[in-house]
Amino acid sequence: VETLAHGRIGAQAVVVATDARSAAELLPGLRLPDFHPVTTFFHAADRAPLAEAVLLLDADRPNGHPPLVSHSLVLSELHPSYAPAGQALVATTVLGRRSFDAGGPAGLEPAVRSRLAELYGTSTADWQFLSVRHVPDALPAMPPPHNPRRPVRLLAGLYVAGDHRDTSTVQGALVSGRRAARAVLGDLGLPAGAREAEAAA
Ligand SMILES: Cc1cc2nc3c(=O)[nH]c(=O)nc-3n(C[C@H](O)[C@H](O)[C@H](O)COP(=O)(O)OP(=O)(O)OC[C@H]3O[C@@H](n4cnc5c(N)ncnc54)[C@H](O)[C@@H]3O)c2cc1C
Repeated sequence: VETLAHGRIGAQAVVVATDARSAAELLPGLRLPDFHPVTTFFHAADRAPLAEAVLLLDADRPNGHPPLVSHSLVLSELHPSYAPAGQALVATTVLGRRSFDAGGPAGLEPAVRSRLAELYGTSTADWQFLSVRHVPDALPAMPPPHNPRRPVRLLAGLYVAGDHRDTSTVQGALVSGRRAARAVLGDLGLPAGAREAEAAA
């Protein structure tokens, strides 16, 4: 493997465990999926609008359309260190492709803030808008028919893992990693780990 920082490294097995776009660049010919973007807004509030670490889903369908806000949660209810000292941190997710004006995704903030007031049932006028993160390639698209078990073994010694080989979730990424590890062990003629052997017994 040629690396930028460490020169050439020899290996019996190489597992490419990057995001789908990087994997397709490293391994020409690998399928490049479409992607779903995710935009996350971060607000600081003097008090937590919900004193529980739960995900608040916006289930309303105005005029049959998906709502602007998908879900929101008070991250500092998971751990206070996530928030600025003495404040609560609210993270709110907007899904999908949106047309942003010249101000970029931050232009949606007033509409997000207004909806949060309804969802949390409290005024959000004093909330401090901290930042917004737009990730265009957040999730590989899974249009039907979706194959949730794409091959992870490209050839003996070369493997690929990641959410783009299974389902577009942390779970999918983990499962693909386990499949790749099994394939490596099989090709190297090594036994499965003790826990795998236990599970198989
Ligand atoms: C905003 C957002 C919210 C999400 N919410 C959820 C959720 O609630 N639940 C859920 O299940 N999933 C969620 N996901 C999806 C989930 O994060 C991904 O499916 C998962 O992280 C994919 O894991 P992965 O290991 O395949 O890839 P990644 O987590 O993308 O890891 C790939 C790694 O490869 C590295 N890399 C890239 N190129 C190279 C290179 N050339 N050399 C070396 N390293 C490289 C990257 O830096 C990265 O660390 C969310 C994703 C986003 C962006």
